[in-house]
Amino acid sequence: MSNKMFAPELFRPPMDFPDIPYDHLLRKAAENNPDRPAIIYHDLNFTYRETVSMVNGIANGLYELGLRKGDHICLYITNRPEYIITFIAAASIGVVVSPMNPSYKEREISYQLSDSEAKAILVQSELVPTLNLALSQKEFPHLQHIIVTGARKPESLPNAILFAQLLRQSSPKKPPHVDITGDDLLALPYSSGTTGLPKGTMLTHRNLVSNNLQFITALSINLSDVALLFLPFYHIYGVMLTGSFLACGGTQVIMERFDLLKSLELCEKHKVTYYFAVPPIILGLANAPIDLSKMKSVQYIFSGAAPLPTDPARRLQEKIPGRVVQGYGLTEASPLTHSQPRDPELIRLGSIGLPVHNTECKIVDIEDGTRELPQGEQGELLIRGPQVMQGYWHAPEESARALQDGWLHTGDVAYVDEDGYTYIVDRKKEMIKYHGFGVAPAEIEALLLEHPAIVDTAVIGVPDDEAGELIKGIVVKRADTAITEEELLAFANGKLAGYKRIHLIEFIDVIPKTASGKILRRELQEREKARLRGQ
Ligand code: AMP
Repeated sequence: MSNKMFAPELFRPPMDFPDIPYDHLLRKAAENNPDRPAIIYHDLNFTYRETVSMVNGIANGLYELGLRKGDHICLYITNRPEYIITFIAAASIGVVVSPMNPSYKEREISYQLSDSEAKAILVQSELVPTLNLALSQKEFPHLQHIIVTGARKPESLPNAILFAQLLRQSSPKKPPHVDITGDDLLALPYSSGTTGLPKGTMLTHRNLVSNNLQFITALSINLSDVALLFLPFYHIYGVMLTGSFLACGGTQVIMERFDLLKSLELCEKHKVTYYFAVPPIILGLANAPIDLSKMKSVQYIFSGAAPLPTDPARRLQEKIPGRVVQGYGLTEASPLTHSQPRDPELIRLGSIGLPVHNTECKIVDIEDGTRELPQGEQGELLIRGPQVMQGYWHAPEESARALQDGWLHTGDVAYVDEDGYTYIVDRKKEMIKYHGFGVAPAEIEALLLEHPAIVDTAVIGVPDDEAGELIKGIVVKRADTAITEEELLAFANGKLAGYKRIHLIEFIDVIPKTASGKILRRELQEREKARLRGQ
């Protein structure tokens, strides 16, 4: 079977996706299975009925605070039930959610709070000091409400509202009706796209509803499935997972951060069937000198967000009864566009699989960006489908570059084999992937240039077996200064979330650039690769 030719569009035929607001997916699942477990977090276990009540409570609370359709709320919180509840509550009344990385430092919070024009923020109590630093350094004219998790209101934020209080004082009945169509904006996650600073990726209710259904259908997930979710909810991969498992009536066991041994215990305790990972975790599982028998209920280990090296994937496959599969996507596509088929005979590990339902793909010439290439040739991967974003928030030029005639330019280099399987071979865009997290070089370059001793810089990714890529700052220092690598790392890394921290610094005389002043990143990357090969 695996050598037979077949057309991917026959394999995943077109489907009809309903034009419904995002929260209807959860409400429908709850109507059908009110008493099934929806969310498990430590000792807390929320049924579908309880989840909907909490969603209603927070939706009513947000509405009473004055939040209306089209307003924005940032979520600055780790993987906790409050995140899920607030996301769907906001969706119920047309409020747009901009998830924020909980490891962000004040500079990064400040950027997203202002750029997204958030009217409210939900902050985890432990993160209040960092938010306060951001609030003390700048005015946020749009920000009106701060909602805090935990049992006590922080003294530093006398006007904040406690999440628990908002829930207690609001009705658990359905919130006021708001006219929401599939075209209304729902989420604004930040992504660097192919170039420049992180930008708000405009995703609508249709985008996320379609993608949840594409994901559930492609992987045949159903209400008996139990997912272990430790991947961060602020990232689009986490947004898709948490929404999809609620949409299909399944159960999600959530972890605030990844811990390999703990994840195995939870697999055993809750009979997890789907384990979602990123390549460094696959590597960890493949290499760990431990018995993986606690994973015997796991049917699928799904890897996404970065290239999956085949060797550790194969070694892990030999250690577990379930299947190791790979998917691919990007924030701009809500995120899923490809995944492996479920049928074990059809899985091809090195590939990202086949396009999910209603998703068209083509490979075009890297230089001109439009000339379609024949099957087998390498070029830029373009995607069209109901999950593709509407553009970037307040960034018309970048939006026009990324979206042409409805086709999303992924910035990834790929080819398609004779059976329709896609293989990602390179990344043409600037983005660096560290442990599956996207890092925008432009953001780190701007920070390095703030140091008085630095006159020019280029930040690139350097291949690394464990992390995927490490972050390297190549810098030109002022001739009359004597700054060291350690000083520069201390200056920059103190201001960056952990996953964006620079690992290596190299001082050089001049950054190679084109005549128009663009950094020749490819040249710098090739030099690094040659160095690693020992040339
Ligand atoms: P993000 O927007 O953070 O989800 O990053 C999306 C990018 O991650 C894609 O454009 C790819 O460069 C990379 N990526 C995601 N999944 C895969 C995969 N399975 N194989 C290779 N690269 C991937």
